[in-house]
Amino acid sequence: MKLGRFIVDTHVHAQRHAAGPELKKEGGVQQSQKKIPYRDLAKIMPKLQTYDNSERLLYDMECYDVDMCILCSAFGMNNEINVQLVEKYPDKFRALCRAKETADKAQAGEIEWTMEAACEEIDRLLATGKFVGIGEGMPANSDNARTKKTYSHSQRMDELRLVMNVARKHQVPVRVHTGSPGGYPINYTFWPENWHPYWIHDLATEYPDVTIVFDHGGMQGGNMENLVDECIQVAANHDNVYLETGLYWTELYYKALLNPNVGPEKLIWGTDWGASQPTYTHIGAHPQTYTFQVRSEGIVTHQVDIMGWSLKQVSRLDISQDDLNLILGGNALRIYKINFPLTRMFKPVSL
Ligand SMILES: [Zn+2]
Repeated sequence: MKLGRFIVDTHVHAQRHAAGPELKKEGGVQQSQKKIPYRDLAKIMPKLQTYDNSERLLYDMECYDVDMCILCSAFGMNNEINVQLVEKYPDKFRALCRAKETADKAQAGEIEWTMEAACEEIDRLLATGKFVGIGEGMPANSDNARTKKTYSHSQRMDELRLVMNVARKHQVPVRVHTGSPGGYPINYTFWPENWHPYWIHDLATEYPDVTIVFDHGGMQGGNMENLVDECIQVAANHDNVYLETGLYWTELYYKALLNPNVGPEKLIWGTDWGASQPTYTHIGAHPQTYTFQVRSEGIVTHQVDIMGWSLKQVSRLDISQDDLNLILGGNALRIYKINFPLTRMFKPVSL
């Protein structure tokens, strides 16, 4: 049975990295080597070419009755493929934008990366009307680790405010990345806010008219709940902050729903489909399964079935179907201003 009236996966990567050739060039990995270490992948990820992986995505969408996906870019992924997919399948896809040109030019040494340049690019992309938001995550400089530049809190907050200004101008949601994947590192030099969900209290207060979504709602990998707890507290204090929940196991949904200031109207389902995050099974532990990149096993090469795992977690929720419909699609339709053919199909939300 389909789990909701209209199901939107709000965090999807329809592009896949072609890592082999670049890894070979770097000399780190031989063709015959079975396991590719996460540290090798992290080094080359921003430089990688990506290809259209929508055939597998469309298969999974049909398999699990997912009606629509919000396509995101990340390391190395481009805006063009996502826009082409939106134009080809207008009923199935919407796209977020990412300042890739700025990142590429900085990577090539042509310019120095600045948030101003990244925001100019995002402003330009949003003006085309082809994107419904910014993400995933806030723009960041992938070169900071090499140059050993560590942000102060206020330096990074000033950068984030520039992104919020652009989001306000175009009235679109932003995404702040949170989570701990385990395999490839997320450094303070790249995304310091990833490790400090509380920083977002200030942005949410200063920009009450801009919707902020925590990518992964604090749970990208592993079974430590500290970032989830912090994300829930921020969402509970601000009407404009939402939690993406696709990598939550069942009890984490209940944890968020137990907070009377969160509730189903603040949760949006999004799985990170295509990010190749494996699901780890830890028999006898609780949770027994969760997303985690296990370093000793190397990167996964098959298409991880994250929609299947995630919807199974959701299916165990004993809450009203109308609440479930908000989490699985209704909130996403509202936040990303996507038309639904019928009125009164989702519980009204006054946020
Ligand atoms: Zn992602």
